Amino acid sequence: MCQNSNGAVLQNIVAFDREAEKQKVEKTQSQDVMTSSAKSLLEAAWARIREKLKTEVGEVEYRTWLRQIVLGPLDENEIVLYMPSRFLRDWVREQYGERLQTLWRHETPIVQRVELQVKKESSQTLGAAPSSESTEGAPAFIIADDDHDGAVTGQDSNLLHAHEAKNDLAAPLDPRFTFDSFVVGKPNEFAYACARRVAEKPSSPGFNPLFLYGGVGLGKTHLMHAIGSELTKTGTVSVAYMSAEKFMYRFIASIRSQSTMEFKEQLRSVDVLMIDDLQFLIGKDNTQEEFFHTFNALVDAGRQIIVSADKSPSDLSGLEDRLRTRLGCGMVADIHATTFELRLSILEAKARASGTPVPSKVLEYLAHKITSNVRELEGALNRLIAHADLVNRPVTLESTQDVLKDMLKAHERRVTIDEIQRKVAEHWNIRLTDMSSARRARAVARPRQVAMYLAKNLTSRSLPEIGRKFGNRDHTTVMHAVARVAELMEQDPSFAESVELLKRMLES
Ligand code: ADP
Ligand code: MG
Repeated sequence: MCQNSNGAVLQNIVAFDREAEKQKVEKTQSQDVMTSSAKSLLEAAWARIREKLKTEVGEVEYRTWLRQIVLGPLDENEIVLYMPSRFLRDWVREQYGERLQTLWRHETPIVQRVELQVKKESSQTLGAAPSSESTEGAPAFIIADDDHDGAVTGQDSNLLHAHEAKNDLAAPLDPRFTFDSFVVGKPNEFAYACARRVAEKPSSPGFNPLFLYGGVGLGKTHLMHAIGSELTKTGTVSVAYMSAEKFMYRFIASIRSQSTMEFKEQLRSVDVLMIDDLQFLIGKDNTQEEFFHTFNALVDAGRQIIVSADKSPSDLSGLEDRLRTRLGCGMVADIHATTFELRLSILEAKARASGTPVPSKVLEYLAHKITSNVRELEGALNRLIAHADLVNRPVTLESTQDVLKDMLKAHERRVTIDEIQRKVAEHWNIRLTDMSSARRARAVARPRQVAMYLAKNLTSRSLPEIGRKFGNRDHTTVMHAVARVAELMEQDPSFAESVELLKRMLES
C-alpha cells in the first residue's frame, strides 16, 4: 500500500475532524472526535511501524520492550503512545524515542511528534494492539530472556507482581540447545570442553565461575542451555538460567514489591546460577552490586556460577573492578569468530536435521557468504528450506541467490577504491601514487588496470567515479581496463589467479 496516499487521506480526514472538533464543546481528547477511518488509518500505520520495529530490533528486544506500547490518541500533530509503567516508558523513550518518531513521520506526515505516556489501564485507548497480540488479553508484561526461552507472560501492566518475582525465577531451557546439537570446531572447542566439564562436575575448583565470552550469535547461550539441560537430567541439581537483563528486572521488581529478601533467598538457594549477557549490567550499578553479593554468596557456598558476556572480564570496562576480578577467577573461555570449515559443518548438521536436501554447493556458498555469525547462517538456511517447502521445489544455487537476495546484499563487504588501490599496489610492489599517475609503463599500467577492474567488480561505483579516483581518467579508459583485464584473465591462468586472490583478500 502506498504510504503517501495514505498520509494524504489521513491528512484530509484529520483536517475534517479538526473542523468537527471546533464545533464541539471542549473535547479534551481528539480520539473522541476522530472518525473511525482516521482511527483505522492510524492503526494501520501503527501496525506497519510495529512490524518494522520488530524486524529492526529483533523479536526479543521487541517482545521485551516494545510490544507493550499501546496506541493512544492523535493530538494536533502529536501521537500519544502509552506504556504500562514509568520504568518502561523511560527506557523506551531513551532507546527508541527517536526511531519511533522517524517511523511515524515516515508513515503518516501528519504525525510530527511522538509522546510517550504512562497509562496503566489501556482498555480505552484508541488503537489496541493488533489482533494477533490482543488475543492474549490485557496488555501483557513480557519478560523475555532472549530469543531462546519461552516468554513469561504476566497479566499485569505494571512491572511485576510480587508473586511473579517469587515464582518462576529462572527461564525454561531450550531443549534444542544441547551438547549433541552443538557443532564443535577450532573456534569453539575450548569453550565447549569447559562447558562439558562443568556439566559433568559442577563447582570443581578452577571452573568456578565459568565465564564464556564471544561475539553475538556464536553459541554462548546454546552452551549455557546445554549445561543446564545436562545438569537437570538427574533431577537433583537446581539450575537457574536468566539473562542479565532479566536479573535486573527481577531485582527492580522485588524492590518495588518489597520482596527483595525473597528474591535474594531464592537466588541463593540454587545449585547452579547462569547469567547470560552480563555486559547488560554495565552502568547499572545497583543491579551489579546485587549480582556481586549473590555471586559471592553462591561461590562461597560451593555453588556453580556460569556467566556469558560479549567481552572478556578484563575488557568489560564499566563493570566494577571487584566484580571483574572475581569473574576472571575461575575459567575464562572465549568463542572465536567462526571459520569457513566450522560454518560449513554447522550448515551440514542443520541441513541434515531439517530433512530437506540441500546441495553441498549451496552450503558452501552460504558458508562463504554469510560470515557474521551462526544465528544469521541458521536464519539463511531456514529461509531457504521454508521457501523450498512452500513452493515445493528443490533448493538450488539459483533459488538460494534469489531467496536470500537482500540478506546477501547486506553481507557484501563494502570495499573502497582506496583499499583496492592499496592492496593492488602492495601486491605488485608499485607506489600507491602510481594508481593515479600518468605513467604508462606496463609495470605500472597493468596493476592500475587490475585495480580499476576490481573497483568495477567489488564496488557499486560508476565508471566515471572510478575514473576520477584514478587520476581523473576518462570513463572509457576504465571500460577498456575492465575489458582488458577480463581478457587477460582468460588467456593467462597465473594472472587470473593473482586477480582472484586479490579479490578474495579484499572481500574477506
Ligand atoms: P550467542 O548467545 O553467543 O549470541 P547463540 O547461542 O544464541 O549465540 O547462538 C545463535 C544460534 O546459532 C543458535 O540457534 C545456536 O543454536 C546456533 N549455534 C551457534 N553456534 C553453534 C554451533 N557451534 N553448533 C550449532 N549451532 C550453533
Ligand atoms: Mg546469547
